[in-house]
Amino acid sequence: MSLSIHPIVLGFNRCYVVRGERAILIDTGPPGSAAGFVKGIKRAAIEPQEIALIVVTHGHPDHIGSAKEIKDFTGASLAMHELEKECLEKGVLRVPPAVTAWGRLLMKLMIRSVRDLKIPSAKVEVVLGNEDFSLVEYGVQGRVIHTPGHSAGSVSVLLDTGEAFVGDLAMNGFPLRFGPGLPVFAEDLQGVKSSWKRMLERGATTVYPAHGKPFSAERIRRTLA
Ligand SMILES: [Zn+2]
Ligand SMILES: [Zn+2]
Repeated sequence: MSLSIHPIVLGFNRCYVVRGERAILIDTGPPGSAAGFVKGIKRAAIEPQEIALIVVTHGHPDHIGSAKEIKDFTGASLAMHELEKECLEKGVLRVPPAVTAWGRLLMKLMIRSVRDLKIPSAKVEVVLGNEDFSLVEYGVQGRVIHTPGHSAGSVSVLLDTGEAFVGDLAMNGFPLRFGPGLPVFAEDLQGVKSSWKRMLERGATTVYPAHGKPFSAERIRRTLA
């Protein structure tokens, strides 16, 4: 069965519904995004109960912030890496270090409003480890892959057809970057590069970042070369 991809813009985040026989949602946006999500799936003619699984790429507040409300609304299970699930289950605020001068300036500007965020906590039913996790039983031909670097427990969704939903393993667009490329915030930039090498080897062709528009994985290949 062919898959369709539906981006849903929530604040400065971009979440994605991937729909096959059933559907998955990738990331949930900052706190208070549930109404935007409801509007987004309605526009795409997706029923809430079609969403079988919510894959949260990592524990930063702009990715987990509306997980509880969206989970309650859809009835979907939540999947997250074991290293970051406490961010959501206990509402722990984690902020990544900047790795560029621009990133440092941005973080200075944003840090106060980030610190004030309150994360509604939710139970993670599907705890991901370092091995691949197949999405076939959720109706999608693809898998979740552990891609550490931006944070230690970051994961990406790679469809069998090459579309890669990478969370913050790449970023595109203002204010984070002026074009597509590696993240301006990362716990381990070398780790970001190694994760990208693996994603490319495993067939990633189009990058769907959590911030900004999709772009060709060739851009990343050239950056790494
Ligand atoms: Zn992040
Ligand atoms: Zn982010």
